[in-house]
Amino acid sequence: MTTENHQERVSVLGLGAMGGALAEALMRAGHPTTVWNRSAGKADALAARGATAAATARDAVRAGPVVIVCLLDHASVHEVLDPLAGELAGRTVVNVTTTSPAQSRELAAWAERSGVTYLDGGIMAVPQMIGKPGSSVLYSGAADAFHQYKPLLDTWGTSTYHGEDAGMASLYDLALLAGMYVMFAGFLHGAAMVAPAGVSASEFAAMAAPWLRAMTGAFEEYAAVIDGGDYAVAGQQSLVFSSLDDILDASTGQGVSTEVVAAVQGLIQRQIDAGHGHEGFARIIESLRHPA
Ligand code: NDP
Repeated sequence: MTTENHQERVSVLGLGAMGGALAEALMRAGHPTTVWNRSAGKADALAARGATAAATARDAVRAGPVVIVCLLDHASVHEVLDPLAGELAGRTVVNVTTTSPAQSRELAAWAERSGVTYLDGGIMAVPQMIGKPGSSVLYSGAADAFHQYKPLLDTWGTSTYHGEDAGMASLYDLALLAGMYVMFAGFLHGAAMVAPAGVSASEFAAMAAPWLRAMTGAFEEYAAVIDGGDYAVAGQQSLVFSSLDDILDASTGQGVSTEVVAAVQGLIQRQIDAGHGHEGFARIIESLRHPA
């Protein structure tokens, strides 16, 4: 990391909860930072601490070689960037707005046509985590831009690069979020089950957190089975043994919806019906790979 890189001029478009946190981290690291937000007021606190508040997105873009974009969604990114293609030509856009892989690739193609260097980012953190341990951001797209600006990007958390395909960062981001949301739904299902027994959600959380943490150890075992391609490898719990009927019965008994657990039971049952009941739990990835 050179001093020059540390002091790279940078512009941030979008000062919502996340964009504001990103700009703040850049300023803390000593980067001369120009900020812009569509509606007034959100730049004031940053300007009071030394950021340059640009009156327009165009002015912000003109302020430096690298433009961080953290807006609501794909449509808002186009709405802001399209009229600025001329100014952006020759500059680098790092777009950390959440978009689908297809939208990221579309933006990368738009950038290429406009002579803009494009790096897509997926933020694996909430605003309060930015710049702190545990925060990570996934990138894909222009490799040179990633390496050139890595010291700047590292001010937000651990930066990792996932290849020239601009859609990859988003794909990993959304795949990781899929795991998170389903896990959260599973936790909430459990909390709903014990609630009628007078157990508070906080009490249940204290039990569920260490249990689920311990269970993540199984990911690598399942992954080895999937990558090895033999779901019948010895030493696994079989699908017939993994029936979730007891959980479904207990849920119904507690007056709780079975939607979350029934979805998993459906994935298991399809493999049993296809004659794979003696194989291990990892086999249900085949139900996911081949939608019913
Ligand atoms: P906010 O809702 O707090 O901010 C949205 C920002 O987008 C505001 O600056 C808003 O401007 C701007 N905006 C929306 N529409 C337009 C438009 N048409 N033209 C110009 N500006 C527009 O969201 P966050 O800051 O939390 O999130 C920003 C991005 O970061 C999202 O894509 C989100 O998915 C992603 N992200 C957020 C995380 C989080 O925990 N917050 C975690 C990981 C990723 P205005 O103030 O004028 O409304």
